[in-house]
Amino acid sequence: MILDGKVVASARKEELKKVLQEFPKQLHLAVILVGNHPASRSYVASKERACHEVGIDSQVIRLDEGITTGELKEVIISLNRDERVDGILVQTPLPDHINEQEILETIDPSKDVDCFHPYNVGRLFLGQPIVQPCTPKGVMEILRYYGIEVSGKKAAVIGRSNIVGKPMAALLLQANATVTICHSRTQNLAEEVKQADIVVAAVGKPRMITQEMIKPGAIVIDVGINRVDDPTTDKGYRLVGDVDFEGVKEVASAITPVPGGVGLMTVAELLWNTYTLARCRS
Ligand code: NAD
Repeated sequence: MILDGKVVASARKEELKKVLQEFPKQLHLAVILVGNHPASRSYVASKERACHEVGIDSQVIRLDEGITTGELKEVIISLNRDERVDGILVQTPLPDHINEQEILETIDPSKDVDCFHPYNVGRLFLGQPIVQPCTPKGVMEILRYYGIEVSGKKAAVIGRSNIVGKPMAALLLQANATVTICHSRTQNLAEEVKQADIVVAAVGKPRMITQEMIKPGAIVIDVGINRVDDPTTDKGYRLVGDVDFEGVKEVASAITPVPGGVGLMTVAELLWNTYTLARCRS
């Protein structure tokens, strides 16, 4: 079975549109884009489009690559104070000279749509989240949509980043899975992954998860988005996941494609987080 992110994301957006019709306030999301990183620009554009689709006002604040940490903090502080603004998102990666952690900690936790502020991360790991990070939440929504039981299952998360791997493990644990987190120092990765009923790959290495690593019948979720050269396309590249889709789909019982999988869910859950925070603050 193909777990179709397009179908689930569109259902999530439709559901939100209905909820927003009953909500008394016009929602407003502020997105900060520093510099000219091509992938970041395209992510920000897709977030803007998605806001428009469900009727959320979005404001993209484009800032020069040379901005200092202090100046960027000032921009965030003024958005924190602005009553109109329900959610603030700083698109990462930021230029190397900017202290990313300091920036993320400047965002008011009650407007932190990405769930990156230590207060929200802490609540998440205590099992008391207000919002959940968009990509891992998107994965959980795919599993829920397709009626895939998580409780009691063995799950392997490959990758331990703060954005995907760690919160993904926290959400699976909260859903009562037995979770193994694999990373760059894991010995016998294949052996660990082969035990799992649910595999979530979030590494950033094209097609590194291969057929032999997957237990027959497992559910495979591919978070990876990697550009690989492809001279036959207009852009000269195409996107592939961390999972060797062609091989793994032969043994898995269900799998997400790339593109068309988790990426679309990330944006849908960002919209939901904007609403959730606005509701909590109202
Ligand atoms: P990251 O570079 O911060 O983390 C990668 C993780 O992979 C690290 O924890 C590292 O320990 C682990 N790793 C590296 N080599 C490994 C190996 N050989 N074996 C096992 N683990 C290994 O990356 P990230 O931000 O977590 O993103 C991971 C991937 O997910 C990237 O391709 C990124 O583009 C993609 N991503 C997709 C979405 C989405 O919306 N679908 C959102 C965020 C990130």
